Formats: sequence, C-alpha cells, structure tokens
Amino acid sequence: MTDQIFRKPFTQQEPIPEAGIEAATEILRGGRLHRYNTLPGETSEVSLLEAEYAAYQGAKYCLATTSGGQAMQLALRAAGVKPGTKVLANAYTLAPVPGAIFATGGVPVLVEIDADWHTDIADLRAKAAESGAKYLMLSHMRGHIADMDAICAICAEFGITMIEDCAHTMGATWKGTRSGNFGRVACFSTQTYKHLNSGEGGFLTTDDADLAARAVVGSGSYMLYGSHGAIPEEEVFQRVRLDSPNCSARLDMLRAAILRAQLPNLDANVARWNARYQALEAGLADTPGIRVPPRAAHEGYVGSSFQFQALGFEGRVLDLLDACAGRGVEIKWFGADTPVAFTSRYDSWKYLGEPPDLHQTKSVLATTCDLRVPLTFTVEDCQQIAAIIRDEALRLGALEAAE
Ligand SMILES: *Cc1c(COP(=O)(O)O)cnc(C)c1O
Repeated sequence: MTDQIFRKPFTQQEPIPEAGIEAATEILRGGRLHRYNTLPGETSEVSLLEAEYAAYQGAKYCLATTSGGQAMQLALRAAGVKPGTKVLANAYTLAPVPGAIFATGGVPVLVEIDADWHTDIADLRAKAAESGAKYLMLSHMRGHIADMDAICAICAEFGITMIEDCAHTMGATWKGTRSGNFGRVACFSTQTYKHLNSGEGGFLTTDDADLAARAVVGSGSYMLYGSHGAIPEEEVFQRVRLDSPNCSARLDMLRAAILRAQLPNLDANVARWNARYQALEAGLADTPGIRVPPRAAHEGYVGSSFQFQALGFEGRVLDLLDACAGRGVEIKWFGADTPVAFTSRYDSWKYLGEPPDLHQTKSVLATTCDLRVPLTFTVEDCQQIAAIIRDEALRLGALEAAE
C-alpha cells in the first residue's frame, strides 16, 4: 500500500514546439492573421496545414475550422442535413455533438452504447430501421472504436451517410484504416485537450468533392476558396458556391502555424500516450470492483484518456472518486444526473425535448469513470495513479465488507 499523494495537474499540456512559437511570433510581428491575408505568391499557413493534414489522414480534401463543433456543423450541412432531418447518434458523447446536430436543424435519434462504450450494433440497426434516418453521426467517444465492419454494413444496407466524429481518434486506426476514413466525412478537434493543441480549432476531411466544396464555402471562404490547400477543382465550386450559407468558421494563421509544428510529432505522441494508457491498464488489472474493458487487437487506439467501470461501486462511485481526489487523482464520472464540467449525460440535453429511455447506456454510464492522460505525465506517474486508485478501491471495498 502506498500513502503517497499525486501532485501533478491533470490539465497541463506540453509546451508548443519551439518552431511553432517562432512561426507564431513571426505572424504576430507581421500582423496578417487572417487566412486570406497573404502577399502575392505566398501560401497561407492555413492552406499549408490543410494540405499536410489531408496527406497525414490520407484524405483528398481537408478544411481547417475554428473548432471541432464547427467542423461537425459544416459536415452535417454539406452532407445534406436540413431542418427536420433525422440523424442517428450514439448517446455517449460530448455535448458539442448533439449541439452541432441541433444547430443544423437536425433531429438526433439517440442510440444505445454497449458495456465497452461502443455504439450498440443491434440498437443502431433497430433504430435505423425504425426511424428511417439517412444520417449517422458516429462519435468515437473517448477513442473507443466500435465494430466498423458492422457499422459500415448497416450504413450500406439502409443507405445511411456516415459522419465520423474523430475528436478522440485523430491518429487512430481500426483494422489498419485510419479512423475518419470509414464514413463520407470526418471531423476532428484541435482544442487544447485533444491530440493537437491550438486552444480551439478543428478539421473536416473527405474524399467527396461536392461535400468538400460546400463545406469550404460554408466555412466562410467568401469567393477566395481558390487559395485553399486541399480542395476540389474549380468546376465543383462553380456548381455549389452560391448554395451554402457563410457560417464564419475559418481557422486563422496563428493557430495554423502552431498546429503545423505539432503535426510531425503526432504519431510519436500516439505511442507515448499508449505507453501511459497501458501503464494505467496494467496497474488496475484484477482490482476488485474495477473493470477495464479490453481493447481489440485490431484497434489502433490513442490512449489520451483512460476509462474504467467502477462496477463494484455502483451507487457510491463518488465515494471512490472523492477518495482518489483526496490523493490528487482527478477522475470524472459520467453518471451524474446534472452535467459537471465537460461531462454530461444524454438526458441533460433538454433542448432536444423529452429524452428517450436508454437504460443500457444509463446503466453503463452509472459506473463510467474517466481520467485525462496528458503527456506531461510520465509512465511512472501513470503507475502511481493506478496504484492510488487500486489502493482506494481496496480500502473502500474493505470498508464495505467490514460494515
Ligand atoms: C472535443 C469534442 C468535440 C468537439 O470539440 P470542440 O471543442 O468543438 O473542438 C466533439 N466530439 C467530442 C467527442 C469531443 O470530445
């Protein structure tokens, strides 16, 4: 048993690489921060970033946006979602997902998750059949990638357009294919807590030329889209450029510059995250009352956060989390009735109307615990964190047995 206290903050990112700081400083000195404010012959940082991210992702087209949420709104609209359009969506996700669907006028049809936080395949199929929805916003929540073969088969069977929310799977793969390359269009976030950090920001990637052009115009390109870094031919824009509302979601030079400096390190960082994730996983293995669902061998996940189920603490999960917090280990709970900080449960999105009763999802979330794994933590830090959680679980479990 350890009586140590963990002393590092769970929200501390690594510094921006020096090259990014230098590039950003130069942009600040020049004063030209808007993506279209370039000198003759100069290529915008934002366009360079788009070309580089498209190449990394293995997608034909890429648009940089002000946030992941804006990328989702643009993707939904560009894919054809209009007021009243039904959109299937897994109920375990972050609030910007239902927010983006709602903002486009779409009507979310919430789908259950299974015990491993994946979209429940049987429920997805049933809801697709029952609702007649032709869109699916699939959120790879906390990086847990569902059975993509099964999901793609359901989309093909029902003629459903899949939009992937890859906020937690940037850099991840499933059976060797990059997450984001399964659906018609994918959305990414570069918000501080994700895999690239520009404070706020995002990407949309697709191989669909018309969709890409509509998204670019929708992002507020005015008629300056020609300077973008990864877009379709002019004739595609000629077809669509007057049909999309300008929703002002452009990324700026400053954030593009700091993202460009980080992208070359992404794959190396994925390996660093996973070493930390695996230390937590190993440290919590066989802890009574705690379940860490196994990851499939073909899931190339990114362990930038860590989840476990406090199955043995149902009804008193907060006792466990408070005990861990007392020792410096900050864990979030997804089971709360009212939203806390970044976590919210689907039935708190009251603007959607009367929530469906997804009792499987509610029951899984009732014991779902969530930790951030910033790269400022070492593998040893993660071992210590796991030891503290294990300790407190054993102690509380023992108290219960003594009662
Ligand atoms: C962060 C996040 C988003 C979008 O994030 P922004 O803050 O709008 O960039 C979307 N989905 C999930 C699951 C997220 O965690």
